[in-house]
Amino acid sequence: MSKLQVKEKAYFVLNEVEKLYPDAKTELANWTTAFQFLVCVVLSAQATDKGVNKVTVDLFRKYPTSKELANAKLEDVVSTINSINFFNNKAKNIIKLANILESDFSGIVPDTLSDLVKLAGVGYKTASVVLSEYFNKNEGIAVDTHVGRVVTRLNLVETKNEKEATKIAKELEGIYNREDWGKINKEFVLFGRYTCKAKNPMCETCPMREMCGYYGKVKDQKSKVK
Ligand code: SF4
Repeated sequence: MSKLQVKEKAYFVLNEVEKLYPDAKTELANWTTAFQFLVCVVLSAQATDKGVNKVTVDLFRKYPTSKELANAKLEDVVSTINSINFFNNKAKNIIKLANILESDFSGIVPDTLSDLVKLAGVGYKTASVVLSEYFNKNEGIAVDTHVGRVVTRLNLVETKNEKEATKIAKELEGIYNREDWGKINKEFVLFGRYTCKAKNPMCETCPMREMCGYYGKVKDQKSKVK
């Protein structure tokens, strides 16, 4: 496929997903500030948004700003968030993150990728989500498990392994125009969460099924069984 054809296919997909999820936005709740949103995104790595939403009510009641969290006792933070995956490491990271914010950034969440990744627990994906969702800035495409699965099933990227998030992000950034980067995460996450699910994706009603590598394979397998 030529570069132009790849781009046309990618924009067809984006437009179709946008029709299905026109008001796509994060499902992380309970945050009102950049600091709280950043903490939510850090906690959401390999955890569900619903699970994160359950713990952040108490977490932000006790520690509404980086100043309070920087001085928190690890045991208390651990017990507040212990229903989500990797709670021990995440508790350590968010306390450390709050300390770095206080010492190096005067308690203000930075709005650049290069500064955000200096914070504990913040990598390219987390930083890209915070920049796009909170600051409305497109500095990178955030590829999580849903985005990785959707774009590899549709063969939008050459990377075959849906878990190679950084490689996939770089490929997508080479295909989509920068002004659209923020949409990719928001819309593809919801499409992956509710339509192109890991198990039992809703292929029969999916507008992309005729171009989908995954759907083609499943159809072939079914016809061989018959
Ligand atoms: S056809 Fe199925 S696997 Fe392919 S994108 Fe649609 S829902 Fe996902």
